[in-house]
Amino acid sequence: KGPDPDLLAIIERMNTVKHKILVLSGKGGVGKSTFSAQLSFALAEMDYQVGLLDIDICGPSIPKMLGLEGQGIHQSNLGWQPVYVESNLGVMSIGFMLPNQDDAVIWRGPRKNGLIKQFLKDVDWGDIDYLVVDAPPGTKFLIDVRKEINFCKKVGVPVLGVVENMSGLRQTISTLKFVKPSESGDTDATEWALNYIKDSAPELLSVVACSEVFDSSKGGAEKMCHEMRVPFLGKVPMDPQLCKAAEEGRSCFTDEKCIASAPALKEIIKKL
Ligand code: ADP
Repeated sequence: KGPDPDLLAIIERMNTVKHKILVLSGKGGVGKSTFSAQLSFALAEMDYQVGLLDIDICGPSIPKMLGLEGQGIHQSNLGWQPVYVESNLGVMSIGFMLPNQDDAVIWRGPRKNGLIKQFLKDVDWGDIDYLVVDAPPGTKFLIDVRKEINFCKKVGVPVLGVVENMSGLRQTISTLKFVKPSESGDTDATEWALNYIKDSAPELLSVVACSEVFDSSKGGAEKMCHEMRVPFLGKVPMDPQLCKAAEEGRSCFTDEKCIASAPALKEIIKKL
């Protein structure tokens, strides 16, 4: 069997991206997209060239969180052109392809994976420092963060760290890790995307956010990280102002009302 032509195309595309940061969550509604969006804003504000790729094709919320609702994608002979928030922050999302933002995309299996593959190989990011990937939530076997971490350990993938979001209320956590290709042949979209990204850029950073309701009386995510020997990156408190900024497509770092969340997020981002 010869080399997979799609993988070769993705490798070529990813060659112009220095760091890939993958954000994943076990469940929906834990702040994965919020984290991806604010991380992208932060990196762009630090003058990096940033791409944000939303492959959460079942509920793309990135266009809204970046203030890009209603925008569409254009093609050039170099590929699909991202939609730019600033000259150094480009965004690609399935949301740009849906006529109605409320349309749910109920694609499964090969069609879903085909679209993710196309995003990875056909978007013309140009030379960028960071590609932040907001990945699809919920996989069959990775819905629990401990399981995710164990899966990483099993396949020899270093976990870069864990973020506890909405700390103090229902605690959710994010783990940051490298992921190696699995040999199972499973077509789960998340795992599949991880494998493709890892294959095409083995030296690069992946971030995985996954979630679990934590009992803070038992030490929360920090204790779990200690027990599982993975880095704990910090807590982001529950902050209605962060929710508002996200709803309105704004960066929390330039919003003086986000006093509870912005400094915490900034500290976490510094550690990446
Ligand atoms: P996911 O991508 O995991 O499905 P979202 O990023 O869409 O989750 O977040 C779900 C909701 O929670 C959004 O309305 C978002 O604004 C809100 N949210 C996320 N993190 C926080 C936080 N730390 N404080 C307050 N609201 C938050």
